[in-house]
Amino acid sequence: MRFKRVAAVAAAATLALGMAACGGDDSDEGTGAGSKSFAAGSTMERLNKAQKIKVGTKFDQPGFGQKGLSGKPEGFDVEIAKIIVKELGIPEDKIEYVETPSKVREDVIVNGTVDLVAATYTINDKRKERIAFAGPYYEAGQNIMVRKDDTSITGPDSFKDGTKKVCSVTGSTPIEEIKKYVKDVATQVVPFDTYDKCRDALKSGQVDAVTTDNVILLGYIAKDEASFKMAGDNFTKEPYGIGVKKEDTDFRNFINDVLEKAMQDGRWKKAWDDTAGKFGATLGDAPTINRY
Ligand code: GLU
Repeated sequence: MRFKRVAAVAAAATLALGMAACGGDDSDEGTGAGSKSFAAGSTMERLNKAQKIKVGTKFDQPGFGQKGLSGKPEGFDVEIAKIIVKELGIPEDKIEYVETPSKVREDVIVNGTVDLVAATYTINDKRKERIAFAGPYYEAGQNIMVRKDDTSITGPDSFKDGTKKVCSVTGSTPIEEIKKYVKDVATQVVPFDTYDKCRDALKSGQVDAVTTDNVILLGYIAKDEASFKMAGDNFTKEPYGIGVKKEDTDFRNFINDVLEKAMQDGRWKKAWDDTAGKFGATLGDAPTINRY
């Protein structure tokens, strides 16, 4: 009995120490080359020794990855990346952010332009043919944004009559999904490379709607409530993962461990509350990590 108590106290103390080491503050305590030990030859060891990392993210999506006044992107994806980077023992000011629009995400992972991608990146089997995903760390769903005064579009079925134009981004899951609903892809689906261009096209009347994940649209609506609104309910599930090289199972496992821990100790929730949570999106329960 006595032994159990001592063990429990010791375990609690270790946990407290561990949590202090993980931080939750903005200090770079616990960073620096050799500050953590990783398996020889692993990506974690290489990055820790180099004391720098390249992170692919979006630059135009409020709440997830949007370039702020600081010149650096801000948002939930960026905060998740920072949590991972800190656990690699690298200070966050040593992150080089690389803009990764939807279409280039697999390419920049495969060719090594970035070390990881955190960019509203839906986990799916097609993408898994080229890269691997840690996560999920969030589940979004596809939705539709229209101009505030529009009452004609109420969901994806509203495109079936062939009269309405909808914008989305090349290389994204929503642009493929919406093609199933329109009458004529060539005239109704307008592809751009970034979502801010779709938003501008909607505002100027070139298109009638923008479709992508609800949380991306909520960010745009929060920034311009006088112009935009959501047109209906989510009609897909978009679980977000961190993209890494397909063969790098150790790095994927490491990121999965970090995400799992962050979801339990409050860092995941704080990252949300500080970013996308301010735009009316809901966090929901922590998703179960898929260690495939
Ligand atoms: N989550 C979707 C995707 O990965 C849409 C958002 C995006 O394009 O980043 O394709």
